[in-house]
Amino acid sequence: MDITFLGTGSGKTDPEKYHSSLFIEFDDSQNLLIDSGDSISRCLQRNYIDYSSIQNILITHTHSDHLAGLPSLLTQMKICRRKEALKIFVHKKHLGMISHLLKIFHVPLEFLDFEAELVPFEHGAKTKIKIHSGFFAYPNTHILPEGKYTSPGINPVSSSIKIFENDKEFFYTSDIGNENDLINYVNYPYEIFITECGHVSLNAMGKILKGIMSPEIYLIHYHSEELPVLRDWIKSLEPELQKKIMIAYDSLRKTIR
Ligand SMILES: [Zn+2]
Repeated sequence: MDITFLGTGSGKTDPEKYHSSLFIEFDDSQNLLIDSGDSISRCLQRNYIDYSSIQNILITHTHSDHLAGLPSLLTQMKICRRKEALKIFVHKKHLGMISHLLKIFHVPLEFLDFEAELVPFEHGAKTKIKIHSGFFAYPNTHILPEGKYTSPGINPVSSSIKIFENDKEFFYTSDIGNENDLINYVNYPYEIFITECGHVSLNAMGKILKGIMSPEIYLIHYHSEELPVLRDWIKSLEPELQKKIMIAYDSLRKTIR
């Protein structure tokens, strides 16, 4: 599978970067867009990705830099006369909220000119995309279920994701609450490990990543202004760990075979 880091920015708007989002091209001709923050339609164009080539979208959580671009992306698909079917994977607690959101923006799935459905996923369960590909979602503390915005029908949660195709797997933390969300996932030899670095103390992250089994670690979710701090932090790490860590940038591509 091929991974394109569409955006590697944080929630803060950055003239140099798009919000964090990944595009996965599986070998079985299925493509998956992970997250659709505001500006995602323009971001896809910048990466020469045709809207029609996206068969699947996965939303890790409902913050605007991960979800706000979904209604406008569907609008673009409609304007471009898309015909291909589309699946949008959302946590089961987000089904009602996102369905309502799409109605507000005049893109209810049942009235689009192409087949589109919201597909619920659960934490800890395997969700298949095709026979040999799919993902597992895991809870993290970025958004707590009992958070301050919870009300009837509004139950936001946040997910980290393991993507697989055949026996190849990679892990993407998406946005996490703190370094404790990393601890459970470093003791496994994923092909690559992608972690956000905006909600984690770099000091603590350095200690946890010391034990990581993946040969490559990619950092995303940072503002351009934070680059010097990240580079200095990497230089302060042990040489073995330094060699594994890469600061991902927009449009970077990585192939896993
Ligand atoms: Zn977030």
